[in-house]
Amino acid sequence: AFEGLAERLQGSMKKIKGKGKVTEQDVKDMMREVRLALLEADVNFKVVKQFIKDVKERAVGQEVMDSLTPGQQVIKVVNEELTELMGGEQSRLNTAQKPPTVVMMVGLQGAGKTTTTGKLALHLRKKHNRKPLMAAADIYRPAAIKQLETLGKQLDMPVFSMGDQVSPVEIAEKAVAEAKEEHHDYVLIDTAGRLHVDDDLMGELDQIKAAVKPDEVLLVVDSMTGQDAVNVAESFNERLGITGIVMTKLDGDTRGGAAISVKAVTGKPIKFAGMGEKSDALEPFHPERMASRILGMGDMLSLIEKAQTNVDEEKAKELERKMRSNDLTFDDFLDQLAQVKDMGPIDELLQMMPGAGKMKGMKNLQVDDKQIAHIEAIVKSMTKEERDNPAVLNGSRKRRIAKGSGRNIQEVNRLIKQFDEMKKMMKQMTGMSKGKKKGGFKM
Ligand code: GDP
Ligand code: MG
Repeated sequence: AFEGLAERLQGSMKKIKGKGKVTEQDVKDMMREVRLALLEADVNFKVVKQFIKDVKERAVGQEVMDSLTPGQQVIKVVNEELTELMGGEQSRLNTAQKPPTVVMMVGLQGAGKTTTTGKLALHLRKKHNRKPLMAAADIYRPAAIKQLETLGKQLDMPVFSMGDQVSPVEIAEKAVAEAKEEHHDYVLIDTAGRLHVDDDLMGELDQIKAAVKPDEVLLVVDSMTGQDAVNVAESFNERLGITGIVMTKLDGDTRGGAAISVKAVTGKPIKFAGMGEKSDALEPFHPERMASRILGMGDMLSLIEKAQTNVDEEKAKELERKMRSNDLTFDDFLDQLAQVKDMGPIDELLQMMPGAGKMKGMKNLQVDDKQIAHIEAIVKSMTKEERDNPAVLNGSRKRRIAKGSGRNIQEVNRLIKQFDEMKKMMKQMTGMSKGKKKGGFKM
């Protein structure tokens, strides 16, 4: 859904990507592109205006970190502000203190309420091991009850229905009572929609709400309707009061703007995103992931995240101390390699490290998994003394190590050289990261 936007943003960033220094004019140009990209994606113009202002304020006044180029820094700010715009943290479903949690699904006709009711029930059962009950309270649309019942059969999920001759309020009340009796921990009430927001619809939803006091009033909106989706959300929130939003059809060729601005306009978070017609096509909405998807830098951010969680804090501290004092050993080197190996492709990882591109010797450090195995073999053929104090490695020792590891002497030499370079590089890196925690790459 965000291809156009992502492409445009990436285009603007590419222009300054290679540059070591970026002028204020570059940043201005970049922000103009960002603004155009957002407007083109159908993001509410007031939201765009505020967004650009926030980013500029932060980006301009900021002290430039050595570990990031100014361009990267702007991207980082854009990413963080975009995340904030969409709600910051992931917003989870409210739960009742005492089960069942009552969730009321509301929205216009065709937005995807019934489909999402089924998806949510499946999600709760599959991901959270819950026992939801779905309730058919749309008595107006022909075959609406049947639709939910069919869905229930497909998913092997119970559906509460009383036909279309009973009021939706009564159906909702009875459904909650049934859920209590049958020990369901969630009741998902599928309500009727209209083509437009009108008093009849709001009146009826209001009655249901008053009767069952839902823990969650989830507004289902169709992202394909762009700005309209945001307006609908505003009306529903003002007239009924909602607690969260499900943005459907994000798999389609929507421009995505509604997803970006709806939280800012209504103050209510997107809790789930519908990504297809199938029942498993529902995802919890993660603002930060969405932001990086929009910026097309998902890989970079997740790599950094991975790196940060993978590296054991204690070890990292110890390593840092050693790097400072320059007594890094081959055992540390192996440790490092093992951690790096868990994170995925090394080249990519190295490229992600802010400032790494500028460092001499980085090229020689690019190794693949096979090479890692060879390195391991070589290091393991060293004695404890050699690993702790590489300075003792003379010709005859190297030959012995080569023989022991089944590698040739050139490889042993290359490794020792790499080790020295790594030592130097790490020294540089610890120097850089000192006192610049935010955004710095910890390793
Ligand atoms: P309701 O009137 O609000 O109950 O809407 P429905 O649940 O009946 O859905 C209307 C149409 O939208 C159906 O054809 C659904 O398959 C489709 N739909 C719902 N959610 C999604 C989604 O996330 N992606 C796509 N592609 N289609 C969806
Ligand atoms: Mg329906």
